[in-house]
Amino acid sequence: VPSSASFPDIAGHADARAFLGRLAREGRLPHALLLAGPEGIGKSLLARALARGKLCPAESPEGCGSCASCRAFEAGGHSDFLLLDPPGPTIPIAAIRGGEAEGGERGKGESPGPSVRLPGLVEWIGRKASGPRGKCAFVRDAERMNVFAQNALLKTLEEPPGDSLLLLTATSAGALLETVLSRCLCLRLRPLPVEEVERFLLARGGIAAADARSAARVSEGSIGEALACLPGEARRMRDLAEGRLAGEAGGPLREEVFGSLGGKSTAADRRALARTFLRSAGLAVRERWRAVVAAGGEGSYVPRGDPTQSLEDLLASTARALRDLEANVEPGLLIDLFAIDVARACRPSHPSATA
Ligand SMILES: [Zn+2]
Repeated sequence: VPSSASFPDIAGHADARAFLGRLAREGRLPHALLLAGPEGIGKSLLARALARGKLCPAESPEGCGSCASCRAFEAGGHSDFLLLDPPGPTIPIAAIRGGEAEGGERGKGESPGPSVRLPGLVEWIGRKASGPRGKCAFVRDAERMNVFAQNALLKTLEEPPGDSLLLLTATSAGALLETVLSRCLCLRLRPLPVEEVERFLLARGGIAAADARSAARVSEGSIGEALACLPGEARRMRDLAEGRLAGEAGGPLREEVFGSLGGKSTAADRRALARTFLRSAGLAVRERWRAVVAAGGEGSYVPRGDPTQSLEDLLASTARALRDLEANVEPGLLIDLFAIDVARACRPSHPSATA
C-alpha cells in the first residue's frame, strides 16, 4: 500500500497524511500530537481519523471502519476516546484538571453521587483503558485553554499514562505556551490549494464546473467555506430564510440548514453554512424592516405586536448569533435558538390585515 493512500477520506494534506500514516504503521506515533492550521481545512477530521486508527485493533492508520471499536467510535460512544470540545470560547480548567460540576458538592471518599464532580482529562486518561489499544483524548481548538488550563495539562503531555495518545488542534501554534509546544509533535497544516478544493467539489457531484472553480477560488482553502458559497447553496439559504420569515412551516431549521452536508460534516462545515444562513436571514430581515418602516408599520409581513420592534429584535438576534458563531458556540445550537426567535417574532401573513 503506498503511504500516500493513508487517510483517504481527507482532502489534501498529502505530505502530512503520508507522514502520519507511516508513523502509525510503524507504531511510532508520538504520545502527543498538535495539528495547527486555519479553520475549515480538515484538522479535526484528521485528528478523528488518527484517534479511530489508534483504538482499532486492526492497527490500520485510520482504523478499519468495520470492527466493534471503529463502529463505537463512529457512533460517538467509544469508552477509550474523550473529545474535549465544550461549546463557547474557553475550555474551563475543570475540564483538564477535574473539579466541581456546576452546583455540585465534592463527593466524599467513594460515594458516587449523581454527577457531582468532573473527572477532567488528566484523571480520565490515567484510568485503565477498557480496550486493548490504550486511550485517546482529543482537545479541539486547544488555544481555548487559558494559561492555567495549559499548565494543568503539561505533566500529562510529558508522561502520558499507559499507551495513550493526546491529540490537540489549534488555529495557530503560536497561541499555545512554548512548554506545551515543546512536548508535542507539531504539524502545521496549510490551507488546501485552490485546485484541490475544486477537485473535492467536483468529486462530490451535482455542481457545475464553473461554480466549483469560483467557489474554490474564494474559499481560502477551506472546503466548508467553499460549500457555503456555492451559488446553489447561497440561493437555498436565502429561500430558506425568506420562507421562515414569511411564517412557512418546515422541518427542524437545523436539519434544513445543514441538509446539504450529508452525514460526514465537521463543525467547521456547519459553521460556514450557519454563517451563510444567518447572513441571508439578516439581509432578509433588514429588507422587511425597511419595507415596514416605509409603509408606516404595514406590509405583507405581519409580525406580532409592534412590527418595527419585532424586526429590530430579530436583527439583534441575528447579529448576536453571528458573534457567538465566531466565538465557537456550536452552530446547530445557534440555529435552534434563532428558529425560536423567528417563531416568536413572526406569524403567517394575513392578507385581510394588510389591505
Ligand atoms: Zn477497526
